[in-house]
Amino acid sequence: MSDERHDLLRSLIRDVPDFPKPGILFKDITPLLAHPGGFTTTLDLLGERAAKSGAEAIVGMESRGFIFGAALAARLRLPFVPARKPDKLPAESIRVEYALEYGTDALEMHADALKPGEKALIVDDLIATGGTAKATADLVTQLGAEVVGFAFVIELGFLKGREKLAPHAVHSLLTY
Ligand code: AMP
Repeated sequence: MSDERHDLLRSLIRDVPDFPKPGILFKDITPLLAHPGGFTTTLDLLGERAAKSGAEAIVGMESRGFIFGAALAARLRLPFVPARKPDKLPAESIRVEYALEYGTDALEMHADALKPGEKALIVDDLIATGGTAKATADLVTQLGAEVVGFAFVIELGFLKGREKLAPHAVHSLLTY
């Protein structure tokens, strides 16, 4: 998809080579966040996707998913649910572990964060391999809620992360 709004967003993503380690081209969203029109446009576009999805709640993962997910939820007057790194949530929680390049990581969600059958849209800044998004979807379904789709600002298409998320709808504003 390409129009003026997407071109604006693309111009506000900064490529940082070799961060956090050699060989990684990091997509830095801080110029986008610092640009009032850019951030608002991002939320406009994500909001259009969310409305079509029929979402009743927005789930965002730590930590950049909080920035877009929470702002989107507030704008749509929907509940925001954080998926957090281990041992951060204070009340009874559920956990999903997932594989990284080296070792494993985990995400947690409060056990009462979503109601059975509630329709959740999962939002993050970027999808790379899709492991983080898949783990978040597993948390949502463990609670008996329904994943109605995923919305990302950026997709690294060459890593084919969206294949891990089938058969759910996956939307991204910018693909590289
Ligand atoms: P993955 O689980 O492989 O899809 O990785 C997704 C998570 O890692 C997202 O929360 C991103 O914020 C972060 N991430 C992975 N690769 C990059 C990248 N090249 N630039 C910026 N963030 C990245």
